[in-house]
Amino acid sequence: MIAAAPIRRLPQVVADAIAAGEVIERPASVLKELVENALDAGASRIDIAIEGGGLVRIMVADDGAGIAEDDLELAVERHATSKITVADDIMRVRTLGFRGEALASIAAVSELRLTTRTRGSVGGSTVGVRNGHVLSRGAAASGPGTRVEVCELFAASPARLRFLRSVATEGSAAVRVAADLAITHPEVSFTCTNDGRMVLRTAGGTLRDAIRAVIGARAERDLLDLDAPGPIAVGGAISSPHAHRASRSGLVLIVNRRLVHNRALLAAVDESYRGLIPSGRHGYGVVSVEVSGEALDVNVHPAKREVRFSDERAVFGAVQRACWAALRGAPALGSGGYVPTGFANGALEVREGDVAIVGRATLPLADRATGLAAWNGAQGDGGARTPGVPTALPALDALGQAGSGFLVATSGDTVVLVDPHAAHEKVLYTELLSRWRQDAPEASGSQLLLMPVVVECGPDRASRVADEHDFFSRCGFTMEQFGPGAVRCTAVPLTAAGADPELLVAELIDRLDDHDAGTADRRHRLAALVACHAAVRFGDRIDVVAQQRLLDELVATPGGTTCPHGRPSVLILDDATLRRAFRRPSG
Ligand code: ADP
Ligand code: MG
Repeated sequence: MIAAAPIRRLPQVVADAIAAGEVIERPASVLKELVENALDAGASRIDIAIEGGGLVRIMVADDGAGIAEDDLELAVERHATSKITVADDIMRVRTLGFRGEALASIAAVSELRLTTRTRGSVGGSTVGVRNGHVLSRGAAASGPGTRVEVCELFAASPARLRFLRSVATEGSAAVRVAADLAITHPEVSFTCTNDGRMVLRTAGGTLRDAIRAVIGARAERDLLDLDAPGPIAVGGAISSPHAHRASRSGLVLIVNRRLVHNRALLAAVDESYRGLIPSGRHGYGVVSVEVSGEALDVNVHPAKREVRFSDERAVFGAVQRACWAALRGAPALGSGGYVPTGFANGALEVREGDVAIVGRATLPLADRATGLAAWNGAQGDGGARTPGVPTALPALDALGQAGSGFLVATSGDTVVLVDPHAAHEKVLYTELLSRWRQDAPEASGSQLLLMPVVVECGPDRASRVADEHDFFSRCGFTMEQFGPGAVRCTAVPLTAAGADPELLVAELIDRLDDHDAGTADRRHRLAALVACHAAVRFGDRIDVVAQQRLLDELVATPGGTTCPHGRPSVLILDDATLRRAFRRPSG
């Protein structure tokens, strides 16, 4: 028998630390509270620094209203808030915070320093709190706004520390919070560094600008604006029909400026693509819904991402109409292109030897071809080069797309047919390999995934991913072990921003099984795989602007005349070849 222990009232500091655990679960939750406070204070610029996964240091500096000197200590006290005064106000809050416990909770489990200056005052003031005790306060130099620094988070709460994942995982969860808030508050300019590395920078502009900063310019270019004002207003931007993906993970929902999950709304977006994209494929982008507070089920726990509407059908309908309008109003698929009529079936009699199939060493190149002669030389991809086989291309002008396949282009009096998939693949592959060759310890061209991808792959493969950590991060992936048998990917190379991250990561993990392959060979194969996933597919319609962009990139790519697997990416028909084919004497 155990003797009954006397019941004691916990000291306030201990009680606070316990309560803190409910609000502050991990560094990402600290960051969220601090940034939300900055937003509530009307900041137009928020700078964030994360160190050691947020456990060493989290700093959030804003240019908002600041805190009056007399209120400073109150701000770090439990249930002290400037946002509501009577209980009724809770129903009307428009600010992100109102419970008045975030700062107190954070201060209870860390070393917190708050330095602030209101716009009107001459000097700033500061207060320092460690594990719930105010250590110091006084005057301090400060620009207008507030700067909160949280160090040694949970250092005195070993129980809490045990629940945390790796430093890298906690750090990227915190970065994700910053990215989410940057998307939901596009008018505010954000910067965020993670262990000194700039991982997020938004300029403070439109939603489109913020999306571009977070998902990358390549994926953003294919987005169409949603613009449906009304009692249920729908905004944002979704991918145009030619830019679909294999999973829904690229679609983000915002309701009243909060990132949410809602199956019905995702389905509404999906349905609007029906008939426009192949079945099983999905659009991506950001759908932002604004409804009046009453239309929303009051959410009890503001950190929760689920949301319920009092009239879900109406919201569903509004989202679907907005998506329809954008998708149907999109410029006609593959608009503006035309295919030269001379390329009708059978009109061109091609005999091997007449035609310069560039990049295939076994096929002879007509050496008299004046245009081609100039293309030879300058650049190469370092591989074996056969004399007479051009590895670089002159500037090409897009004419259009034949059917939904080859691109037709000209350069002077030469006609060039381009396999868009092979060409794009080579462009991306070359970009990736050149990144690897750089000596920088970490790759810079990384793209945060709005929704991280988790792949269940068994403990064996998960640990192999861990072995190759350096390799993946150089390439631009952020991959980490997620539980014993899964891998979580939170960022992909910028190059692969257009790919379906789930499929890509799953195949990469599969590919790691190639144990016999040497390092260089494996790199080559992984780069080719990433490129293949990210590249436009052969059957895809590409609009003229994208056609021209692809051609320009191809021209700038050394060895752009073959795909990473060595197959030709272009077919060059010079004037002499065409004349011969048409039995027309050379002019
Ligand atoms: P809440 O946000 O729920 O009111 P907090 O504990 O997060 O509670 O903050 C307490 C109070 O401190 C806020 O109500 C606000 O008055 C003040 N405050 C906190 N952070 C800032 C900031 N960055 N700028 C201005 N005031 C702030
Ligand atoms: Mg708050």
